[in-house]
Amino acid sequence: MRSLLATVFRPACPLCTRPAQGCFCIDCQRQILATRLPQPWQFWHGDLPIAAWGRYRDTLKRVLGALKYNNRPELARPLGHHLGELWLTGGHGLREMPLVVPIPVHPDKRLTRGYNQAELLAASFCEFIGLKLSSNLLLRQTNTQAQHHLSVQAREANLATAFVMNPQHPRPTAPVLIVDDIYTTGATARTAQTVLQQAGCAVVGILVVATGKADMPAKLKLPAR
Ligand SMILES: [Zn+2]
Repeated sequence: MRSLLATVFRPACPLCTRPAQGCFCIDCQRQILATRLPQPWQFWHGDLPIAAWGRYRDTLKRVLGALKYNNRPELARPLGHHLGELWLTGGHGLREMPLVVPIPVHPDKRLTRGYNQAELLAASFCEFIGLKLSSNLLLRQTNTQAQHHLSVQAREANLATAFVMNPQHPRPTAPVLIVDDIYTTGATARTAQTVLQQAGCAVVGILVVATGKADMPAKLKLPAR
């Protein structure tokens, strides 16, 4: 009877509605882990070092979609812990503890969605490893529309004025680690990096849950010698 009750009242997996163990059912958990990148620190170098936990496909893509569009803020917690586990592997090579800054969303979007998924991921990541979070250092002042249909150049033009530094926030003394859910073209990340650097902040890199690029960034070519 007790096991029957445990089965009946066990929370449903948000992806398939089967009984969950933790946040997901065992099968979905396995599928999420299958998207993990074998070399997450491969692109942790260049102008903007990037570390990604997994590939933006299959079940990980569904989880990130549910987090962003289906009002499932609780999904940020296990994903943030995956980021924490990745960080603890030490592939970043940093000795100084960075300040964690999530990519902000426009206040209108935050209002309709109810949260900023990057901020929730960053908060879970910080909670897991004990880093400091600053979710109001960068502000988003332009409500950029869904940009997947635009060229890289058009996205960058759109994004050029998207972020500003919060004038109320003291300039951090620690270097900044940017956190976001997905890395695709890198336009958003580079724009945020530029704004931070122009304000005198050192940016150590960006940490994301998933990357849509099989070979990761196209831009990180070393200058010709
Ligand atoms: Zn499931």
